[in-house]
Amino acid sequence: MAVKTIRYITDPVLRRKTKRVLKIDKTIHQLVDDMLDTLEKCDGAGLAAPQIGISLKVAVLWLPDEQPFAIINPEVVKRIGQREVEEGCLSLPGYQGKVKRAVSVTVKCLDIDGRPLRIRAKELLAQALEHEIDHLNGIVFTDLLESPDKLYKLEQKPGEKTGGQSSQNELVIGDSVGAAVSKEPLSKGNDNDA
Ligand SMILES: [Zn+2]
Repeated sequence: MAVKTIRYITDPVLRRKTKRVLKIDKTIHQLVDDMLDTLEKCDGAGLAAPQIGISLKVAVLWLPDEQPFAIINPEVVKRIGQREVEEGCLSLPGYQGKVKRAVSVTVKCLDIDGRPLRIRAKELLAQALEHEIDHLNGIVFTDLLESPDKLYKLEQKPGEKTGGQSSQNELVIGDSVGAAVSKEPLSKGNDNDA
């Protein structure tokens, strides 16, 4: 159990292409535990291993009112639709930007026990999955901004969670989950972002 320091967005480790996990051993379990501790401390929705300086294809997701879970060697195999969303990143505290994300995604990965997992997700979970998997490919969300003016500094202090619908926490905290790791059809729209 350890809370790790989150690397800032300019850290070169966030630009490195990560390595696939070949064996899910004790080291990987420890890494996932540390990532969950770190994520819990920052009250975030997702964290990728490079954000704590580890260049491996491991990420954790922890959406509000959901169980946390790890994804190992994840890959987005399908994207459907496109929408503009507010996004932030634990590696760039105090900022948020408008980026385009899929409405729903299908992700293939391994779970923490090495079992193959196929995740169909929409809305906030889809966004979080795309965001974390981008990290594993050396991409940060600011790369996706159409122009620099789509990034803006938040007026709220870090950690402040209330007061204003465009809080910094739309991705980092979020107040609505489109779907969990779910077998439900993806057709039901429940759009919380314009
Ligand atoms: Zn991030």
